[in-house]
Amino acid sequence: MRRSKSLVPTLREDPADAEALSHRLMLRAGLVRQLAAGIYVYLPLGQRVLDKVNTIVREEMNAIGGQEITMPVVQPAELWQQSGRWEGINEMFKLKDRWGRDLCLGMTHEEVVAWLAAHEIRSYRDLPQIWYQIQTKERDEARPRSGVLRTREFLMKDSYTLDPDVAALDRSYAAHERAYRRIFDRCGLRYYVVQSDTGMMGGLGSHEFMAPSAAGEDEVALCAGCGYAANVELARGVPAAPESPVWTRQEVATPNVRTIAEVSQLLGIDPRLTLKSLLYVAKTSGPVLVLVRGDHALHERKLARALGEEFRAAHPDEVRGALGAPVGSVGPVGARVPIVADEALRTGTYVVGANREGFHLKGVAPGRDFACRFADLHAVAPGEACTVCGKPLAVERVIEIGNIFKLGTKYSVPLKATYLDEAGREQPIVMGSYGIGPARIAAAAIEQLADQDGVVWPWSIAPFQVYVVVVSVKDAAQLGAAEQIYGECWGQGLEAILDDRDERPGVKFKDADLLGIPVRITVGNSFVKEGLVEVRSRRTRQERRVGQGEVVAAVRAMEAEEGRT
Ligand SMILES: [Zn+2]
Repeated sequence: MRRSKSLVPTLREDPADAEALSHRLMLRAGLVRQLAAGIYVYLPLGQRVLDKVNTIVREEMNAIGGQEITMPVVQPAELWQQSGRWEGINEMFKLKDRWGRDLCLGMTHEEVVAWLAAHEIRSYRDLPQIWYQIQTKERDEARPRSGVLRTREFLMKDSYTLDPDVAALDRSYAAHERAYRRIFDRCGLRYYVVQSDTGMMGGLGSHEFMAPSAAGEDEVALCAGCGYAANVELARGVPAAPESPVWTRQEVATPNVRTIAEVSQLLGIDPRLTLKSLLYVAKTSGPVLVLVRGDHALHERKLARALGEEFRAAHPDEVRGALGAPVGSVGPVGARVPIVADEALRTGTYVVGANREGFHLKGVAPGRDFACRFADLHAVAPGEACTVCGKPLAVERVIEIGNIFKLGTKYSVPLKATYLDEAGREQPIVMGSYGIGPARIAAAAIEQLADQDGVVWPWSIAPFQVYVVVVSVKDAAQLGAAEQIYGECWGQGLEAILDDRDERPGVKFKDADLLGIPVRITVGNSFVKEGLVEVRSRRTRQERRVGQGEVVAAVRAMEAEEGRT
């Protein structure tokens, strides 16, 4: 690849609308361009990175017995109606064909796999199976953002395991976990394996692979003491309880006070002695008052699990209608709606809204002064005690780069994917489903390794290993030597890109840094004078001068030093 003839449109300045580091650098390094919100074109360098990731993914999937297939993007509605997922997934792209039949664009393929298994798997002798594909998925995201991290169209490796029973599923699941660890290790990423919520996939349990990064949209709670690690959607912690003052229950005037901060300031109390009262409307059971401690944030996924159904925040007029007071003055005492309180509120007395504008109640004890049920509702905050070992939890921002689900028979039963066991009895196939986002791997690598000058690719997924700069293309000796080195690299199995543009050297060096290719080779004046070229590591910035014939050996030495994963 020669820069003079390539589509590598680098940008000097940060694009205005890109916030995440990986988003800025993917645009600046000419890896991607956005066609529409959350829909991207992968340019030649971006495509090469995806190809590298996919090769690693294929090798590791094949190593655990995976068989690659390709399933269609367009899927008939019937399969999703049978599994019960046709309604209720807002992100699904739905369409009709010319005869008015309902179709959707696949965001995942459990239904198709169950259909295929129902047709092709007969007996226990046909099991286990691992099927995978690397294919385009479609998701009608409400808010595509952070570059390639949350998009409406994306590449995904999805695999599915078919087993005769749960014990066999456990083995397939463990094999996937090992394969995923090898994939992310080889891609040079730092990551955690955490417990996660099964969400819309349903099933018996799941884990996520999370790469720490400021650009991440997820958070995980981590315990350095015992290794507990869980998505905050699921993570439990024990918050430190405030010293409970001896309060007799009384109404206090709180004029023009709306927020927890204002209430605590006016009354001169710790915000942990206040309660947030939030009214929600559940889809079938109606209004429900939800309580969390003043300093805590409600986690909506936890509330969804506690309610067991969909819900939305109540409108201000619904709040007044149900509780007789405006938002900011509502509370649990005397409320004639069901109440769910966070586990942290089992003990202590608190300040709550009085359901009367401009007043609060002091000294209210949940369970004593109002009836409620308790559930884990608050998002774990850093410093809360680990429920396993008691040590303080850390909370870290992460990018989800992979997930694994034990589906059980959630899809095989409705789609009639069964097999005959050794006794000739019909049994449902036990399924697992496993995903990896190649673009997210690329973005996470950028997030974790980039420096102030640009991308720093790990050797394993770099679009090229060597960037050859000709300082002056007008100098025939320089250009000739660079061409030779470039050819020799390819001949020796090193992928090289030749910067043969008629540009100032500074522009080429800046571009080389921005692109993040592991080694830069510079052919310039010292070649003309002394026959030496510079071999420079992008990551360590260490530089060696070697003769033209030693270039490949020098690159290989650098590769060995920096550890090709
Ligand atoms: Zn612990």
